[in-house]
Amino acid sequence: MARKILVLPGDYIGPEIMTEAVKVLQEVDARFKLDLELEYGLLGGAAIDATGQPLPPETLASARSADAILLGAVGGPRWDNVERHLRPERGLLGIRSELKLFGNLRPAILYPQLADASSLKREVVAGLDILIVRELTGGIYFGEPRGIRTLENGEREGFNTYVYRESEIRRIGHLAFSLARKRNNRVCSVDKANVLEVTMLWREVMEEVGAQYPDVELSHMYVDNAAMQLLRAPKQFDVLVTGNMFGDILSDAAAMLTGSIGMLPSASLDESGRGMYEPCHGTAPDIAGQGKANPLATILSVAMMLRYTLASPAAADAIEQAVSVVLDQGLRTPDIYTQGQQLVNTSAMGDAVIAALRA
Ligand code: NAD
Repeated sequence: MARKILVLPGDYIGPEIMTEAVKVLQEVDARFKLDLELEYGLLGGAAIDATGQPLPPETLASARSADAILLGAVGGPRWDNVERHLRPERGLLGIRSELKLFGNLRPAILYPQLADASSLKREVVAGLDILIVRELTGGIYFGEPRGIRTLENGEREGFNTYVYRESEIRRIGHLAFSLARKRNNRVCSVDKANVLEVTMLWREVMEEVGAQYPDVELSHMYVDNAAMQLLRAPKQFDVLVTGNMFGDILSDAAAMLTGSIGMLPSASLDESGRGMYEPCHGTAPDIAGQGKANPLATILSVAMMLRYTLASPAAADAIEQAVSVVLDQGLRTPDIYTQGQQLVNTSAMGDAVIAALRA
């Protein structure tokens, strides 16, 4: 039976990078006989312009019935002045919560060919390949009660609630351990168990989950140390699993280790492994419409989709390999360009990946 992929190009550079990612997806669909059916939808600013809403009901219905969603990026200055509840990001947050996408996978991979793009020394980062698994639908970002109140003495007080249920920790733990089995069999769980009760429980539950994966090595690290270690010796990590807020911060830090935001894919998965795949970057309004956008993060998101939702690891490997070949050939969009390389535009980069797939 055909599997349905909902394609949401989004705003500014979104449609430009998505054109290239779809070309690559269609190429592997034909080559590996994946029997995919693509459907297009509107999300974010493009949806606001067409329908007045950032997440139109038709998009949500298509998303619910799709096996996977491929998203460009949404938002930008054009919609800065619309009301808060109608802003483009609402569409993104809406789709994540409606589909219960609790597991956020953020790989930080640094192709050796691009090691000089990092602000860290080549030997510290060349060949970096870590996966941050962040809990996405719980923790302090969603805990109740929350708010800003005025105390009796007239002073204002802001408060949030950091809460995790055992079932939520268990769920993200199982995801991290099963992903580690597809990689190098190591999980490092990041917490602040020396101070926060929530993360004492987090650590206990991770131990319990870990006992079910005797072939995977489990270690624990406090978040402050994890931040230091990411900068000092990031290659020591394989899979890093953590809660929503710590994951938010650490995954951005890890992304920046690679120095090239145009190269980083991501996935957000639900309990059955269905998911939404998107580049880590935004809509880059400053370069939209100029053929300067790097499509590789979106193309690598297609590879993640093939690996994690569509169970087609050979097709995923082929795409990742093709990207590596293109980098070996010295082709670079402006964001990853260094002297002596060949500067190409967005569509030439997509074409080169397809040529490498066919070679
Ligand atoms: P951004 O990631 O769009 O851009 C940051 C910088 O990186 C810019 O200089 C941009 O030109 C560059 N860049 C980003 N992607 C690139 C690519 N593929 N190729 C080459 N260069 C690239 O972040 P921002 O400027 O803070 O945000 C712009 C808009 O995107 C905002 O409206 C923001 O809300 C939105 N945004 C959306 C998402 C999403 O849809 N998931 C994520 C982040 C930001």
